[in-house]
Amino acid sequence: MTEGVYSYSAVLMGSPILLKLFDDNPTLARQVFQLIKQQENLFTVNRAESEVMSINQAAGRHAVRVSEAVFRLISVAHAVSVSPGSAFNFTIGPVVKRWKIGFQGHAVPPADEIAALLPLTDAHQVILNEEDRSVFLQQPGMEIDLGAIAKGYIADVVQAFLRQQGVPQALINLGGNVQTLGAPPHEPQGWSIGLKKPFGREDELLGVLQVQGKSVVTSGIYERYFELDGKCWHHIFDPHTGYPLDNELLSVTVISDRSLDGDIYTTLLYGMGVEQGLAYLADQPDLDAVFVTRDRQIICSSPRHFQFQQRDFAWQLRY
Ligand code: ADP
Ligand code: MG
Ligand code: MG
Repeated sequence: MTEGVYSYSAVLMGSPILLKLFDDNPTLARQVFQLIKQQENLFTVNRAESEVMSINQAAGRHAVRVSEAVFRLISVAHAVSVSPGSAFNFTIGPVVKRWKIGFQGHAVPPADEIAALLPLTDAHQVILNEEDRSVFLQQPGMEIDLGAIAKGYIADVVQAFLRQQGVPQALINLGGNVQTLGAPPHEPQGWSIGLKKPFGREDELLGVLQVQGKSVVTSGIYERYFELDGKCWHHIFDPHTGYPLDNELLSVTVISDRSLDGDIYTTLLYGMGVEQGLAYLADQPDLDAVFVTRDRQIICSSPRHFQFQQRDFAWQLRY
């Protein structure tokens, strides 16, 4: 147990949010939660109104001018989505909405319906105009979904705010997106962040990652899913098929400086799978990752930015 730590929690963006500080500062905690709410209000597609919803509602009709923050995040999402072979696609909205995974009324849609939605998920048909900061979805029915990166982006916004407030050590956990400042006092090895056992209880860990001033983002198929006919239908989609990504992975964790990068790369690495993912990471000195597979392996990239302590020895650890 970390000494002298003050924890503050809330439920925002449909997720449990946890802030850890080293002095008792409920005012600061309130400001952080307020900041998160404000950011969520820009990006959400789970409510009738937000800047992103205005873009979606004008699909096929007209461009919508947005705030600088929204334009910037959409520009990043666009660039990642149109890069060749990318498993990340921020125009996946119609598919996400049709499956409703994690929401009431989820079901496996008929194959022809999924096929009919795929033409609406073409990121090349998003027109970004830098001059007036406007976004236009060229076809009616297109929908932007920033669910794969909003939490990471907001975690970085919170980190910047805390830094600006002169806070030397802190941790923010946005429903599995962890961003940190410094290391806890008297714990030079850094923050300890649990890696969950897939489909296990909340307190069951495969191991613990230790980091200092880094972000740790995990995307797992066990986060939001439903089971039908012995299959697990989860919330990370293959944009090329419109079905949940189906490979050897149960989760991918990315350790990076920016939580935005962590959030992007969990999706990209999910699409690559273990072998291609490890090869990719070999050329990325700023990124590390931990893959957890269906055949009970925990596979770490050569760890430059974290240490891993295994807890569950029924799983095989390899580097
Ligand atoms: P979590 O919701 O657990 O943080 P992710 O960061 O992986 O997990 O984001 C998952 C969300 O991203 C989905 O709920 C959906 O809104 C969106 N999404 C699903 N598949 C893709 C994809 N291939 N590319 C971009 N966004 C996706
Ligand atoms: Mg996420
Ligand atoms: Mg993500």
